[in-house]
Amino acid sequence: MARRLQPTLGEIGEAARALRAGKLVAFPTETVYGLGGDATNDRAVAAIFAAKGRPSFNPLIVHVLNIPAAAQHAELSAKAQAVARKFWPGPLTLVLPRRRDCKISLLATAGLDSVALRVPAHNIAQTLLMMAGVPLAAPSANPSGRLSPTEADHVLADLGDKVEYVIDGGPCPIGVESTVLSLLDDCPRILRPGAVTAEQLSELLQEPVATETGTEDANAPRSPGRLLSHYAPSLPVRLNAIAAEAGEALLGFGPGAPRDAVNLSAAGDLQEAAANLFAMLRKLDDPRYRAIAVMPVPETGLGRAINDRLRRAAAAR
Ligand code: AMP
Ligand code: MG
Repeated sequence: MARRLQPTLGEIGEAARALRAGKLVAFPTETVYGLGGDATNDRAVAAIFAAKGRPSFNPLIVHVLNIPAAAQHAELSAKAQAVARKFWPGPLTLVLPRRRDCKISLLATAGLDSVALRVPAHNIAQTLLMMAGVPLAAPSANPSGRLSPTEADHVLADLGDKVEYVIDGGPCPIGVESTVLSLLDDCPRILRPGAVTAEQLSELLQEPVATETGTEDANAPRSPGRLLSHYAPSLPVRLNAIAAEAGEALLGFGPGAPRDAVNLSAAGDLQEAAANLFAMLRKLDDPRYRAIAVMPVPETGLGRAINDRLRRAAAAR
């Protein structure tokens, strides 16, 4: 069973040593908990895929300390630099051309000539990156296709027998995965909506930023978080519910939700709703119900990221 570490310098240092020795460590970020391994170590990266049961065509996000560290692995165009200066550290992943001398395991990038990089803002993640001194491949610390973990207990329940340590930093403040922005073509494209919105990116770049809401070919996805079924609890999910039907649990939103619903945010606050989303879905994913009914969440700002996850959770499996 994984050991839970406290976020002291001593214990983070112990986690950093384990990472340098090729072991896996789960750690908190501002979005969700990541399952970290040394991105330059093929065996550590292979262990991440094995622990998650993740198909090897699905590339991993690589976490780095800062912009100069990112520039060691990827080509940063002027546009990429502008976006990075504005939103890093933060909940934004950039898909960029891989540098020819990039030391990141080819397995981590699934053999693509691109690499997905992120500079996390969470200070435990920052401290761990600094102490480890290597880029960390860190997808969400959950079995492939299932709910992402937003608390150390979620990781221990799902992957406790597959990681060395889980650094307990309490609940993740944002609660949904990073925005994934591809800067591979002339037109910037959001591959996964998150806390950094299309509007914010478009305002900075002074050009339209498309969100690809479509889903991928399951056999050759370009960005597999876009697989139709993903982020799924065990129970079926029914969207746009007004009330629970017999045997259903109800996940509500806003002041109009029934009193007995578990409410993402009684005040109707999207930030609070995002932070609660995965923990509440987990709580309702209980065999005493037959399904989880979810009330509508507005399709604005962070609501887009919430609805993206809910649609995939509700998709046919
Ligand atoms: P996760 O690692 O579970 O947080 O998910 C990472 C997301 O980033 C998935 O949707 C990946 O498919 C996507 N991703 C990672 N690397 C690339 C890449 N090189 N090109 C496009 N999407 C990527
Ligand atoms: Mg994930």
